[in-house]
Amino acid sequence: MRWQDQTEAPALPSAAAFLTRLGVLDSVRLTQRGNTSPRVVITADCLEAISFHLAKARTEMGGLLLGRAYAGLNGQADAQILVAARSVPSQAFDSTNVSLRMEAEVWTAARPFLDKGDIVLGWYHSHPDLGAFFSDTDRTTQRAFFRQPYSLGIVIDPVRQEMKAYLGPDSAPIPAENVMVYEGHP
Ligand SMILES: [Zn+2]
Repeated sequence: MRWQDQTEAPALPSAAAFLTRLGVLDSVRLTQRGNTSPRVVITADCLEAISFHLAKARTEMGGLLLGRAYAGLNGQADAQILVAARSVPSQAFDSTNVSLRMEAEVWTAARPFLDKGDIVLGWYHSHPDLGAFFSDTDRTTQRAFFRQPYSLGIVIDPVRQEMKAYLGPDSAPIPAENVMVYEGHP
C-alpha cells in the first residue's frame, strides 16, 4: 500500500455545511453532548459492510475506512467530526509492530471514492472474542500509518459485539456516546 499518500494533511472543511445536510434532529444529537471530544459518525451502510466482513472468520481481519473529516465544531480548527462513509475490506490482513499488510487491491477499490473527495479516514479491524480495545501493536500501527489528527481506528469484537473508536497518532479513545450510527447518506 502507498502509505505516503497520507503524509500531507489536507485542510479540513468546516462542519457547518455537513451539519446542515444532517437536518436539525441529527445535528442536535451530534453537537449536544456533555464532552468536547470529537464525534464519530458511521453510516449504517458502512457499519453493516464492516460487520458482514468481520463475521466471515474468527481470525483478525480488517480494512480501510474512507470518508470525511470536518473541523470547526465550537470553533476548533482540528478534527471534530469524523464521518466514516464506507469501508474497503482487505482479504489479506496482518498487523505487527513493524508492519501493516493489506493487499494492493484495497487501493484499487478505494481509488474511485478518493477521486470523489473521500479521504482515507483510517482503518478497522477485528478482535474475535478478545474484547474491543487497542493493543500496544494497534497503537504502534496507528502512530505509524494513521498519524493524522483525524485518523480514526475502529476495533470490533464481533463475538462479544463490542466496538471502540480511537483518534489521532496517540490513539485517544473516543467516548462511546460520541459514536453515532447514521441511517442516511451524508
Ligand atoms: Zn488489534
